[in-house]
Amino acid sequence: MPTGAQQCCAPTSVKGLVETIRTIAWMKEMARQARAESRIIGLVPTMGALHEGHTSLIARAKQQCSPLIASIFVNPKQFGPNEDFAKYPRRFESDSEKLKQAGVDALFAPEAAEIYPKDFSTYVHVEGLSERLEGKSRPGHFRGVTTVVMKLLQIVQPHFAYFGRKDAQQARLITQMARDLNLDSEIVMCPIVREADGLALSSRNAYLNSEERKAATILYRALDRARSELAAGVRDALQLQSVLHRAIGAERLAAVDYAEIVDAESFEPVVRITRACYVLLAAFIGKMRLIDNMYVETKSPGFDELMFHL
Ligand code: AMP
Repeated sequence: MPTGAQQCCAPTSVKGLVETIRTIAWMKEMARQARAESRIIGLVPTMGALHEGHTSLIARAKQQCSPLIASIFVNPKQFGPNEDFAKYPRRFESDSEKLKQAGVDALFAPEAAEIYPKDFSTYVHVEGLSERLEGKSRPGHFRGVTTVVMKLLQIVQPHFAYFGRKDAQQARLITQMARDLNLDSEIVMCPIVREADGLALSSRNAYLNSEERKAATILYRALDRARSELAAGVRDALQLQSVLHRAIGAERLAAVDYAEIVDAESFEPVVRITRACYVLLAAFIGKMRLIDNMYVETKSPGFDELMFHL
């Protein structure tokens, strides 16, 4: 048993549920043992309420890693005072079953006080990138994200950590943090998983009523319009932005928060599409704020033939 861990905090192993680790000490010990056996450790951090977006990260991680650790931690520090921390969906039992079925070896699910003891006072902040787009709409959000992800990477020290392109700016920030702080974990970005009608899976989709749920596909449809324009040769970012605004404006329940075409590295707005970029969307559907994006790249010189990742 690792030093400092209480007997009552030993990992729980119940049939049908994944082994659950509640303390940092146990988590570190398990990871230490895996490293001593020269095994490749994978980490998939989540906030729970798991869906196929999450399980796609797990499936990807399973190809490379054993043991594979998933974490569930609804991180209070990444929610603003008027955001949905208190009502964020928490479905521990069904999440645990899903993780077991997906072949995860252990679930790290600490309490908030374990991660943030009373005297906690160190934060990780990625300058610049954290202030734009999602960071501008949600002040302090990324500071909370990078702080908790840094802690998770420190505790587990995985060889690979997996993040979804659904949160493209978040994945980019974490990659930057890992590079800047010389972490040994490789950050792997995985594609967006969507419903049949195009809506990107998100734990927050559960908040939408049926009318809003239908309206929510407008994000995908707007991105798809931008794809058609790009495929037809449009390269002007302003023109593409107006296509996005017009598409979303036509949906009664939807309002644009931002619609931007940004450089894939810097996340700075581009004027013309001449290099890899993201088309980023954030929109309110009723009271719910949803995000989505399309990654655009090319293999041809001159950026003529584009490849779209929606
Ligand atoms: P969350 O539980 O929302 O913090 O998400 C945990 C991880 O799952 C993050 O890396 C997300 O980007 C990723 N994720 C969430 N939704 C999707 C999706 N629809 N497709 C792919 N990855 C996703």
